[in-house]
Amino acid sequence: MRVPHGVIDLDALAIDIGGTKIIAALFRDDEILVEERIPTPTHGLEEVLHALVSRVLRESGTRSVRRAGVAAPGPLDLGRGLIREAPNIRQRTVDIVAALKGLVREAVISNDAVAAAWAEKVLVGAPSDYALITIGTGIGGGIVLSGEPLLGRRGGAHEVGHMVVSLEGPPCGCGGRGHWEALAGGAWIERTLRMIWPGIGCSSEPPRGPEDLYRRARSGDECSLEAIGFLARVHAAGIASVAAAYDPEIVYLAGGLYWAGRDLYMPRIRDLLGEYAMKGQAPRLLDATYGPRQTLYGAYAIAIRPPRRLVELNSHELSPRWGSLGEENSMATG
Ligand SMILES: [Zn+2]
Repeated sequence: MRVPHGVIDLDALAIDIGGTKIIAALFRDDEILVEERIPTPTHGLEEVLHALVSRVLRESGTRSVRRAGVAAPGPLDLGRGLIREAPNIRQRTVDIVAALKGLVREAVISNDAVAAAWAEKVLVGAPSDYALITIGTGIGGGIVLSGEPLLGRRGGAHEVGHMVVSLEGPPCGCGGRGHWEALAGGAWIERTLRMIWPGIGCSSEPPRGPEDLYRRARSGDECSLEAIGFLARVHAAGIASVAAAYDPEIVYLAGGLYWAGRDLYMPRIRDLLGEYAMKGQAPRLLDATYGPRQTLYGAYAIAIRPPRRLVELNSHELSPRWGSLGEENSMATG
C-alpha cells in the first residue's frame, strides 16, 4: 500500500452505502489508495460510518479530505443529507451529514444507481444517452440523457425497481405491489422462488436464496434453470420498460446480485429483451465497467465531478459552495 505524504487536495473519498455492506475508499488520481468495508449495521449506522471513514483516512495517512461522494439507497432527503425510510436497509433513516462531519469539508450525496451510472460518463466516456440498472438487494436505475443525469424534483427520479412488471405480483417493501424489485431483487428472491416453484413443476425444496439458486443452476438443476429463466424474464420486462420510457443507446447492468449470477442472467436477458422491447428499439446491453465496485466508482465520480443540479439539491451543511473554491469549471455542466 502506498502511503501519501502531505498533499490532500487531489484526494477524494467515495462511500457506497448498500443493503448488505458499506464501503469507503480514498481515491487518488482515479485509483483506490485505501478501501475498507463493513457489513451494514441494523442500528447506529452513523457511528459505524464515521468510524469506517476515520479508519480509511488514518490508513491513508490523511487527517481530513476535502470532498466526499456518497452513493446511498433512496429515498433521499438531499436538503438535509438524510436517507429517509429506505426499504432496503434496516435502519431506515440515516443522517449521512452527521456521520461525516469533522471528516470531510464537503459531501455530495447521490442515489446509488445514479452514482453508478455517472461513473460511466465521468470515468469511461459513455455515449450521451444511456441507462444503468443495479440489480442487488433492491433494483435501481440511473438514467443519463443528453449527458445529464435525470434527477427529478428531489433527486428521486430513478426508482425503476418500483415499476410494475406483474399486475397480480406480490407486495413490495415500498408499500406497492407487483414491482420489478419485489419479484427479482435480492431481498425477495427466496419468496419468489417459493411462489413459482410449484408452477414450474418442481416438488423439491426451493433454493434458499440467490447463492443456492446460482449454485444449483450451474450444476444443471432443471428447476433452478427454469427459475433463472423467470427472473431473467422479469429483468427483461423491466429493462424494456426503461428503454420505452427513455430511449437509451446502451443499458449497463451492475449490482451484486447481477455479478454473482452474471453468466446465468446475461445471455437470457439478451434473448428475452427482444420479446418485450418495442420492435427494433432494444438498447445494447453491456456489463458496467467497474464490476462489483461500480457504485463505489460512481461515488468517486460524484465527488470529483458532481452534476450541477445534484449539488443544488444537496443543500445540507456539507454541500459544496459555488465559487468558494474556484472550481465551477471542474463541475459537470453538461
Ligand atoms: Zn416497490
